[in-house]
Amino acid sequence: MDSAPSPPGVAAGDASAPRRLDVERLRAEFPILRQRVGEKPLVYLDNASTTQKPRAVIDAIARFYSDDYANIHRGVYALSERATQAYEEARAKVRRFINAGDDREIIVVRGTTEAINLVAHSFGRLRVEPGDEIVISAMEHHSNLVPWQIACAERGAVLRVAPVNDDGELRLDMYERLLTPRTRLVAIAHVSNALGTINPVREIVARAHGANIPVLLDGAQAVAHLRVDVQAIDCDFYAFSGHKLYGPSGIGVLYGKAALLDAMPPYQSGGDMIRTVAFDKTSYNRIPYKFEAGTPHIAGAVGLGAAIDYFQSVGIEYIAAYEQELLAYATARLSEIPRLRRIGSARQKACVLSFVLDNIHPHDVATVLDNEGVAVRAGHHCAQPLMERFGVAGTVRASMALYNTREEIDVLARGLRRALEVLR
Ligand SMILES: *Cc1c(COP(=O)(O)O)cnc(C)c1O
Repeated sequence: MDSAPSPPGVAAGDASAPRRLDVERLRAEFPILRQRVGEKPLVYLDNASTTQKPRAVIDAIARFYSDDYANIHRGVYALSERATQAYEEARAKVRRFINAGDDREIIVVRGTTEAINLVAHSFGRLRVEPGDEIVISAMEHHSNLVPWQIACAERGAVLRVAPVNDDGELRLDMYERLLTPRTRLVAIAHVSNALGTINPVREIVARAHGANIPVLLDGAQAVAHLRVDVQAIDCDFYAFSGHKLYGPSGIGVLYGKAALLDAMPPYQSGGDMIRTVAFDKTSYNRIPYKFEAGTPHIAGAVGLGAAIDYFQSVGIEYIAAYEQELLAYATARLSEIPRLRRIGSARQKACVLSFVLDNIHPHDVATVLDNEGVAVRAGHHCAQPLMERFGVAGTVRASMALYNTREEIDVLARGLRRALEVLR
């Protein structure tokens, strides 16, 4: 009997058995993973910080520069038209990827940080008045905290922070109590980078919308691990970065509902974002171009499109199932290590493990792990207030992606036991 062809990296089984990721085959597509650190094979467990790139993405960028590169939206010559088409195709891929309703709602930016700054400045100027309030949560990345602090200071508004419980879950009851007639916006992470907590975003949005408050979701940690459907979630803004989704750095996306984006003033100004310019008056281009001033990272957009193609060819369902299995395995292995305190044990979690080992400084633990070839993050993970909430200066964070294996988790566990021996 013929069966449907397997997506790359998915082992075909018999039709009744669920197909699983063929991780060894996937790993072979990431050239950097062949590397050694001294004698030891590289064990890359810093994926919440950034992900490695598959050959398909590297090649797409090289091909674009070799064959199709020119500036976009300007030239009438063939090359510029091809470059423009490649750039706009990437936008359409992003739109389909997060199921937005319209290409005009996809703004190409530098990354999550720029996306949030855009909203903080532009929406801030549109809607935020003295005495108004903006609600965030205690688990925000500095990128979804500092821009709101600055916007509040400039507009005379107040920043309100919804707390988290001891497991690192958002206190929904407290969150709801923060929503008042003065609240202008809610800005919350879809998935926490420091703890891995997956927030109940539909619930968060529904409660805010019940009070007519728009919601921005920071999706930097979500898009590579969960299926994201911005229409189903019904959020008003959604931000993410290409480099955490196996794509290039310096490229990212702001999704915004068209009606809101239309009403918002430009963030940056210059070329491309204008319709007509005179010394006494300038009229602005339509969305999304109104928010894309200057020459963008054209090849980055093409690379992001290739990353989305790659990711979808593997399949989010397979990836998510595999990563959850790996998380369960890693959680069990780490729980066997004496004097290891896990930070963040939400019921809904992406594959992030944050912990402290005895009272050893996280940087020292990471240094011992580096000697074993294991790359992890140590520090506050751009979430200092959250670290304070848990009474630590920082943690060690191991974060996994579709190419990590159980064997790599075993290497991590051995490295941690070694750290206990040498550092105590
Ligand atoms: C990485 C990250 C950001 C910042 O993303 P950049 O790509 O550095 O702009 C913001 N929020 C979360 C939750 C992140 O993980």
